[in-house]
Amino acid sequence: MSASAPPVSPASADALHTLRHVFGYSAFRGPQQAIVETVAGGRDALVLMPTGGGKSLCYQVPALLREGCGIVVSPLIALMQDQVSALKLLGVRAAYLNSTLELQHAAVIERELLEGELDLLYVAPERLMTPRFQQLLSQSRIALFAIDEAHCVSQWGHDFRPEYIQLSVLHERFPEVPRVALTATADQATRNEIIERLSLHEAEIFLSSFDRPNIRYTVTEKDNPRKQLLRFIRGSHDGEAGIVYCLSRKKVEETAKWLREQGINALPYHAGLEASTRETHQNKFIRGDGIVMVATVAFGMGIDKPDVRFVAHLDLPKSLEAYYQETGRAGRDGLASNAWMAYGLQDMVLQREMIEQSQAPDEVKRVERRKLEALLGYCEAPSCRRQVLLRYFGEDSGPCGNCDMCLNPPQTWEAGEAVQKALSAIYRSGQRYGAAHIIDILRGNATTKITERGHEHLSTFGLGKDVSEPQWSSLLRQCVAMGLVGVNEYGGLILNETCRPVLRGEQGLQLRRVRESQAAAPTLRREIEFESDEARALWAALRQCRRRLAEENNVPAYIVFGDATLKQMLEKRPMSLEAMYELPGVGDRKLELYGTDFLEVLQQHAREHA
Ligand code: ADP
Ligand code: ZN
Repeated sequence: MSASAPPVSPASADALHTLRHVFGYSAFRGPQQAIVETVAGGRDALVLMPTGGGKSLCYQVPALLREGCGIVVSPLIALMQDQVSALKLLGVRAAYLNSTLELQHAAVIERELLEGELDLLYVAPERLMTPRFQQLLSQSRIALFAIDEAHCVSQWGHDFRPEYIQLSVLHERFPEVPRVALTATADQATRNEIIERLSLHEAEIFLSSFDRPNIRYTVTEKDNPRKQLLRFIRGSHDGEAGIVYCLSRKKVEETAKWLREQGINALPYHAGLEASTRETHQNKFIRGDGIVMVATVAFGMGIDKPDVRFVAHLDLPKSLEAYYQETGRAGRDGLASNAWMAYGLQDMVLQREMIEQSQAPDEVKRVERRKLEALLGYCEAPSCRRQVLLRYFGEDSGPCGNCDMCLNPPQTWEAGEAVQKALSAIYRSGQRYGAAHIIDILRGNATTKITERGHEHLSTFGLGKDVSEPQWSSLLRQCVAMGLVGVNEYGGLILNETCRPVLRGEQGLQLRRVRESQAAAPTLRREIEFESDEARALWAALRQCRRRLAEENNVPAYIVFGDATLKQMLEKRPMSLEAMYELPGVGDRKLELYGTDFLEVLQQHAREHA
């Protein structure tokens, strides 16, 4: 940005006009405007933006500004239909072509493309590359090519799609058509591969911060995870949509069942379910209002629901990359959301065991160990969580003020002596027992396992009575996270070389104290804070109206109006169509389609509460 604002060019005036009238937004966000101008001006762009950053507008607006049809390549067939429905409701002439479509219907769309009757056409990559479609393209007027999920071209990434490699021919066949490649994958290696494979050397690169400021990160010590989860959902997300990730299918089933018994509208999702059941559950989640999906990581790719209010982890994710991707599914609409995780020593031990016992080559194991360490570093972070996350992705930032550590800074204690006792208990019992047994030794619990092994005679037996069990558990976790203590392939705790200075008492250690009660944890922010029953009633009425219109139009509720728009209705209480038009997300067409319905709800409510 230069210091003196440049005069508004005709191109950006047009872009703003489209943004206002079609999409109902009054300003571009972050780099959107620069991207729109680049692409609308006929140049290539590579857009790296986090989930929820607003990538779609970066090709939708230029496609409307340029002559011809914008071709959007996307591997996520399930998404195309909803995106096209949403665009149609905005009055955009959009369509999609993929394998789910009947021949006849596809023929109609192909004709529309040829005759210049489409603004945007979504196509699966394998379809795009067929000779038939290439022929069609050469006879049509093309505004631009948008290559969504561009990281699929990368073999190093996690979603490699061979069809994507061929997309480079677009540049050779249609050199005059601008291309915009978009991805939410940040790392340099993937970025370079996208540029190389799609021949985007000339493209302007737009790299956004990968921070998701509206997501609040919290990590809780696991004690009774189900109950903790229930308390979290009831306390912060009653009636709202969210995802709960578990490691195993069994745990998914059990957790979903249990939540239902507690009155939460939860559904299970994992690869072991029938395809039709999976589809039904996914549709209910996307279209419904306030469903909690309990799932393995099989769920989520290609879920573009903007109003997921929380993502909860009941088990450790695979890595920080996976964690960031999974939690990133919360709050795409920019409204306050929570990423919440319950984790304990056992999770950490389990992950170590899995790595050590696997048959993978040493090189792979080394990488996995490093990834686990980074993850544990996050879980055991003594300060701002977001700083740890962003640093991992190569970004520097200050403390965020919106994570559990910033909101409720942990207390620390001088734990050098306690750690010494723990290390000694591990050593003297032969470096083969898990944390529970070590804690029994320290606390002087004469269990059968202790007496059978004669561990009540160890010099460390009962030396740590003054420290509570959760405190010991946390201490051991922190020792593992710091690398003082290791875990053998059977889950036994062992001493690492680095623990020597501490063991000899040469080095003090400031450790985090566990919060003695959950009540001490900060209350999680709710997006919609109801000041009164009256506001609560209006919110319910607005949602009811949205649900009805969604059903009538057979689209997901968020496509009618997102939560951000509904929230503005609640706050601003527009009493005329002009006032309604001022709200974000209300463009010309939506005003025409739904303005009156919502206005009636607002007016009736005002009369009842006059
Ligand atoms: P991405 O594809 O990067 O994950 P989307 O394009 O789905 O993100 O946009 C995320 C959300 O942000 C959507 O609900 C969208 O309507 C909203 N949004 C995008 N750009 C703007 C803007 N300029 N003003 C207001 N809301 C926006
Ligand atoms: Zn923070």
